Formats: sequence, C-alpha cells, structure tokens
Amino acid sequence: MVGSTIEIDLEALRYNFSQVRKLVGQTAAILGVVKSDAYGHGMVSVARELENQGVEYLGVSTSREAMTLRQEGVSSPILLLLGIEKDEITDVIHHGLTPVLYRSDFARELSSAALAADTPIPVHLKIDTGMGRLGVPYREAKDFFELVQSLDGIRVEGLLSHFASADEHDKSFSSQQLERFRQLLIQAENIGLNFRYAHMANSAGIIDLPDSYLQLVRPGIMLYGGLPSQELHRPVPLKPVMTLKTRVLQLKEVPADSPVGYGCTYLTSRPSRIATLPIGYDDGYDRLLSNKGEVLVRNRRAPVVGRVSMCLTTVDVTDIPEVQPDDEVVLLGKQGDQEITADEIAAKTGTINYEIFCNFGGLRKKHFLNSSVP
Ligand SMILES: *Cc1c(COP(=O)(O)O)cnc(C)c1O
Repeated sequence: MVGSTIEIDLEALRYNFSQVRKLVGQTAAILGVVKSDAYGHGMVSVARELENQGVEYLGVSTSREAMTLRQEGVSSPILLLLGIEKDEITDVIHHGLTPVLYRSDFARELSSAALAADTPIPVHLKIDTGMGRLGVPYREAKDFFELVQSLDGIRVEGLLSHFASADEHDKSFSSQQLERFRQLLIQAENIGLNFRYAHMANSAGIIDLPDSYLQLVRPGIMLYGGLPSQELHRPVPLKPVMTLKTRVLQLKEVPADSPVGYGCTYLTSRPSRIATLPIGYDDGYDRLLSNKGEVLVRNRRAPVVGRVSMCLTTVDVTDIPEVQPDDEVVLLGKQGDQEITADEIAAKTGTINYEIFCNFGGLRKKHFLNSSVP
C-alpha cells in the first residue's frame, strides 16, 4: 500500500555535528539534545549516531526517554533537562542519570535517597538568569548553592542556564544573561562550589556567541540541520536531516469550475489534473497549508489545492504532465534541484522549523539512511 515515510539522513546529522565541533573546538564538550524524539528525528537512532561520533553528553526531557536510551544500549551520560519527580529517583540511581536541580525540596529528597542507596547522585543546578521559565531565580542562587553544598550524597557536576533570545539580532539581553551567569560562577566558587561543566549555549549561542561556550554546549536544532532563526550574525552551513515523502495515490482529470476538497474552497480555473496524496494533518501536515503549501513531484513544485484533510491532501499537477500514479512526492526536503525547507513551511503556517520537525516526526514510518553505527 502507498504510504508516507520520513527519511532520516544520518550522514547529514554527522555533518551538522562536525560543524558544532568545528565551532566549539576541543575546549567545550558537546551535549546533544535529543528530547522530543530528537525533534521528531528518532531519538534512539540519533543518540546512537551521536554517541558513535563522540558526543560527550545527551539531553532529554524526562527519565522515561532516558530509560529508553539505556534499554537500547546508549551508555553516554544523560542530562534530564526538566529535572525529575520524586518517584523517579530510584530510576535515576539505577540507570545512572543526571537530573537538573532547581527545587530545594528535591535537593533534600535526592540527598536522602543517595545516602540510603549509598550512591552519590550527580546533578546540574539550573539557574534562571532572565528567561523567566525553569530554574532558580538568579537572585536566590546563593541560598540554593549553600543548601546544596550542605547536603551529602549529591555530587554537583554542572551549572546551567538558558538563553531567552540568543537567536535574535540584538544580543544585549543574552550578554546580560551571560554576565549574570559568570557572576554566579564566582559566587559559587567563593563558597567552594566548583562545576566540571558550566553551560549555557543552545544552537543560537553556539552560532553567534562564542563567549558562551564555557565547558559544554547544548545544540538541538542545528544538529537536525535547522537554523534557530533567520536573524543570526554568522549562520553556518548545515544539512537538513529529515525528508518527508509520500506517493501519488490517485490522479484525475477534472473540468474547469470543479470544486476540490472539504468546503469546496478551491475551484479549478481550467481543465486540471489533480493528484491526491495519502497524507494529512494526522501525519503532521498542517491544515494551515490548505491552498498554500507546495510539494515536489517530478522535480517540480506543485501547489496544494483545497483543504488538507485528516489523511488526504490534493495538489494541482496540471503543469507537470509527466506525473503518474505512484510517483514519489516530497513534502519536506529535496527532489532533484528543488527543495522545500522546514523554514518555508513554518513561514506559511506561522510557526518555527522546530515545530515542523516535531509534527512530522510523529509519523511512525521512519527510514534511517547512512548509519555509521555497526
Ligand atoms: C531544547 C534545549 C536546548 C536546545 O536548543 P536549540 O535551540 O534547539 O539548540 C538547549 N538547552 C536546553 C535547556 C533545552 O531545553
């Protein structure tokens, strides 16, 4: 049966990883962010590939994701970016995971669990230096440092914070966040708290803010071939990793003035050839692409006509007469010398490339190409 597939090009992932390495050099280690199924690219295969390329750390949101990685044989250190719930502490100890810590009640819980298990638990302290989201507010960091310092069983390995707007042209707020972070490092040092890894840089920091590299960097989107925004000062060449493909399910000739799709929102202006594709919003192909999106077929662009429905989408191929049933159709990625990027789709649906990858990544059928893992 015809169906839609995601292709994940692991050679492109390796290229992007090598671009990060080239930027940060040997001084900073790399934490590959593979949360949310590696931004839809398949967490386990991506993690294995990065591990084979020498990534020093992996980052996920939850202990559930981390346990999946461990069960699949991934042995790199894993940072739990959202921290943990109390009932996850035994898993953390058992699987050797590293939670981020930003609550004093969790600090105490972790300490007593570590002492009870006679196993030190590594943690990274997360400080909010201005983003206003997760982390200890930087003005309260000193008390938190002192608390953590007083607790046995916790092995403080890292200090991290997150940029709110490093992808924007104006870097003044990022510089302010970085300066606050540096002050925190001094404060901590003054009470004898030192970190193996201080880290702040996401992809935007890696690309535009070399001062933010410190001992570890945390690339996400750039590993997958996406730039964090169009406003960067020194964009680096990257290769998109994900391709979304489907096939022509049915091809039909219709006269002028024929409606297409739900709501009859499109009327043919001439005798037309309409190709119906077995993909829809259930596969992450956004309904906002109705009468707006474009796809590639026979190395040409064809417009989406009518509404995208749950499992089907219609495109006008009147101007591409060679199109046949079962022809390959590319919705994201390259075909011949044409390319549809996640940025192009994101601009049409009012979002960012990150969300496009996550949405398409929900498609279960993934093919991994060019793996280097034995
Ligand atoms: C998701 C995430 C990143 C990666 O951000 P990108 O913009 O994709 O590079 C880095 N750090 C933290 C804490 C994150 O949650």
